[in-house]
Amino acid sequence: MGSGRADLRVREINLPDEIRDELSACLDRLKWIIAGVKAGGIEGWTRGRENASRQDASPCPPPHAAPGKARSAEMSTEEPKKPCAEPQLIEAALGEVGRELAGCTRCRLHAGRKNLVFGEGSAKSGIVFVGEGPGFDEDQQGRPFVGRAGKLLDKMIEAMGYGRPDVYICNVVKCRPPENRTPQPDEIENCSPFLIKQISALNPRVICTLGACASQSLLGSGKPISQLRGKTHLWRGIPLICTYHPAYLLRNPVQKAATWQDLKALLKVLAS
Ligand code: SF4
Repeated sequence: MGSGRADLRVREINLPDEIRDELSACLDRLKWIIAGVKAGGIEGWTRGRENASRQDASPCPPPHAAPGKARSAEMSTEEPKKPCAEPQLIEAALGEVGRELAGCTRCRLHAGRKNLVFGEGSAKSGIVFVGEGPGFDEDQQGRPFVGRAGKLLDKMIEAMGYGRPDVYICNVVKCRPPENRTPQPDEIENCSPFLIKQISALNPRVICTLGACASQSLLGSGKPISQLRGKTHLWRGIPLICTYHPAYLLRNPVQKAATWQDLKALLKVLAS
């Protein structure tokens, strides 16, 4: 049975949400193992199995200090962190998701896209940023966060002591909504299985959701971002910090101070 069909069956069965989530997580772990076999034979299988069981316990090995210039006082200054998982396993798992998404027409957003914006970066830092959806510049280039908001995100990442290549950046929906409107619930529902697979493949130490749409989607909450930020949530056992979207910060620079507090909280999670 293909993994896509297995996912479909899990969604079709009428089960309580927590059991369905657990079954989906089992499928994700199985896919890690399969990706490991494909990438590295029996050795890859062992690594895949280790990565899969790591998802059961803590997302990654104990963190070391964050590299770079903006370490907070609470952070240790030891050696640079190790990546969360074998890069080739991550590449293999992400490649599988990318192949599944190629040419996707599962929702109406496919009709207006120039490029599908999958996501980019690495799991080196253990940080995954999740935004809402591609805008004009992103759609043109097929890359996430490359417009004015993207430049601000780059500065936020640098302020944390990292570079853009150290983090992974993606969106809830992979195709640009018309006129940059907020994605509709059915569009998010159609695209979210891919986001779940993407994050599961990356196996980050911490997720940072940018803005209300991404925060509400991953947390299954209807609360405003002002109520979701300021605390550490859990997404399938992975710490999740919500903060404002950089596009909102461009319009409301007064909220940059609050955003920096959120990013410092994220750094604390990484250092813990
Ligand atoms: S937004 Fe997601 S589900 Fe909709 S067409 Fe694009 S890739 Fe497919």
